[in-house]
Amino acid sequence: MTSAPILSPSETDLPEVYQSVESEVRSYCRGWPTVMDHAQGSHITDVDGRQYLDFFAGAGALNYGHNNPVLKSALIDYLTNDRIVHSLDIATAAKTDFLTTFEELILKPRGLDYKVQFPGPTGANAVEAALKLARKVTGRESIINFTNAFHGMTLGALSVTGNSMKRAGAGIPLVHATPMPYDNYFDGVTEDFHWFERVLDDSGGGLNRPAAVIVETVQGEGGVNVARVEWLQALAALCRTRDILLIVDDVQMGCGRTGPFFSFEVAGIKPDIVTLSKSISGYGLPMALTLFRSELDVWAPGEHNGTFRGHNPAFVTATKALETYWRTDEFNKETMSKGEFVRTRLDSIAGSHEGVSARGRGMVQALKFEDAPAANAVCGVAFERGLLAETSGPSDEVVKLLPPLTTSNADLDAGLDILAEAVAATLA
Ligand code: PMP
Repeated sequence: MTSAPILSPSETDLPEVYQSVESEVRSYCRGWPTVMDHAQGSHITDVDGRQYLDFFAGAGALNYGHNNPVLKSALIDYLTNDRIVHSLDIATAAKTDFLTTFEELILKPRGLDYKVQFPGPTGANAVEAALKLARKVTGRESIINFTNAFHGMTLGALSVTGNSMKRAGAGIPLVHATPMPYDNYFDGVTEDFHWFERVLDDSGGGLNRPAAVIVETVQGEGGVNVARVEWLQALAALCRTRDILLIVDDVQMGCGRTGPFFSFEVAGIKPDIVTLSKSISGYGLPMALTLFRSELDVWAPGEHNGTFRGHNPAFVTATKALETYWRTDEFNKETMSKGEFVRTRLDSIAGSHEGVSARGRGMVQALKFEDAPAANAVCGVAFERGLLAETSGPSDEVVKLLPPLTTSNADLDAGLDILAEAVAATLA
């Protein structure tokens, strides 16, 4: 099996200013070299009127679709009436509404006694705050992370991230973190978890006593690696018995991506600290939360700070999203059934081609290619045919699908038709 010589989209299709002015660090616009303009639900239209089905959804920031009309109308009302936009962490009516609704619809029904911190508007901010807090609470420095983890681009978050190219970008040693094998790292041959347990308990194991373990229940950037429920439960139990804090990074898998609001609910565990961002505002507006058990709230006022921690338009759309989608269990059920539908179609694509397999949970589903470059080629062909999907994994060997959770069954079907054609064309 080889990747066919398919014409890949060319960056020179973009206006010159992208190459002459924007830094070389730009990335998504290289794979999707068109100028996007309008967006609604799961559809994007470029400046030439070409339509794309969006199975990328802002890397998971648009679980409720682009310009969701219910959220948009709340946002427009808020702005039209000159309600306050920027306020750092000053109290505002929009923030009161968000905190009250989050407690009522998300925390209380799940029996989660969490305090809410607004750490700054990005996922990396939420992770930095989580790591700092874990270190402050325990007085220990070391953090356990997992192979192929991704937690963000700031130095603390990078230190617990696996990808060697991204780590190298730090330019300084990334310390105080020890990687352990994620579930199924050895393809089920060895019980991966035992290594961690063993070195933790062995006085000759050489492991500094960790403050915390940070884990994704499904590794989105790492290749859609899905941790088994039993593995997550065993990890939570290990942390509890050894007095190590458990941080679940739910930046990409939270807000319903895997079905329930928090991705760890499937395992019945209660992490000590949780990070949320991406889809928490519901509208693609920057917002992040670090949640933790109330006993862990040892912050001094202002000890973790930031100018953009109280973005009121994000609170408004976040509150509306919670009220619209999380009052009942209906949205969770719909997501699970859409996820099963996507998975059935991916299994069928995988079954028709050697060296291709399907993986995922809920509405994060993926195809893994043994011939890694084929994944990139598939995304290139899919783009030419009007579908946005990105690759992930250490060798970009996985085509990852993150459609908005509100995508209709007809649109899911249409996107999967394009994907099936792209796979067939690539592997022909
Ligand atoms: N954690 C996880 C699990 C993520 O997927 C990401 C972003 N892909 C981050 C943290 C970092 O979020 P941000 O890009 O908003 O800093």
